[in-house]
Amino acid sequence: MAWFQRTKENIQEKGQLEMPDGLWAKCPECSEVIFKKQLEDNYYMCTKCNFHFRIGSDEFIKIILDEGSFIETEKNVKSVDALNFTDSKPYVVRLKENYSKTDMNEALTVGHGKIDGRQVSFGCMNFGFIGGSMGAVVGEKFYRAAKYSLEKKVPLIIVSATGGARMQEAALSLMQMAKTSSILSSLEEANIPYISILTDPTTGGVSASYGMLGDIIIAEPNALIGFAGPRVIEQTIKRKLPQGFQKAEFVLEHGFVDMVVKRSELKKTLSDLIDWFGFN
Ligand SMILES: [Zn+2]
Repeated sequence: MAWFQRTKENIQEKGQLEMPDGLWAKCPECSEVIFKKQLEDNYYMCTKCNFHFRIGSDEFIKIILDEGSFIETEKNVKSVDALNFTDSKPYVVRLKENYSKTDMNEALTVGHGKIDGRQVSFGCMNFGFIGGSMGAVVGEKFYRAAKYSLEKKVPLIIVSATGGARMQEAALSLMQMAKTSSILSSLEEANIPYISILTDPTTGGVSASYGMLGDIIIAEPNALIGFAGPRVIEQTIKRKLPQGFQKAEFVLEHGFVDMVVKRSELKKTLSDLIDWFGFN
């Protein structure tokens, strides 16, 4: 099927190019060559142009949560191939490859930790794991992270980085949109805040469910945020899209997110918001 045979550069290929092995990294935006340690000290932002490199849950945990406070939960919830699905390779093989290639157990890591001493339930998506796609396990882990928020009465913070629903789980992955949305309405009834952080890229089923359902929605600068990708939209409506379409700043201007925050300011912003919600 056409979905699996992209000939043009796609978002996943771009992500892989951004963090080459070795001591140095090259900025895909301005071509500056940066010493990796320096990049790490600068919150994985380009030291010259502030481009935000794609990072995973390990890095976000270090950036957002107090040192050593994070406890990962639900590590043993694993995906199964309920539909016996095969695209260019069987789903079970794809899963196995991703476990060994990425050293991650799913496209969403959840647990709890502290932000400036305030307890939160925290989750972060891993774009490197099958394009950060949302299957039944991502939905279940999200649900359990939200349940923890409800039970402990602590804010829920989720960082998204995703291409959308997991094709290999077909309708089962689409059902996660309803599942995650419904637990968020329970949080709302209990007056527990949910802060959604959208990073590059946040598209498809996640943007159409928990990505855009935050009481506060924060986006990282220049992140691609949307439902369908710009190329698909252009082909459908047969019109040229405006400059910066679906970029965080464009989406902010059109009222879909509440703020665009640099990664270096993220922890302070979250800390202030939690205070503002009265959860200190
Ligand atoms: Zn740069």
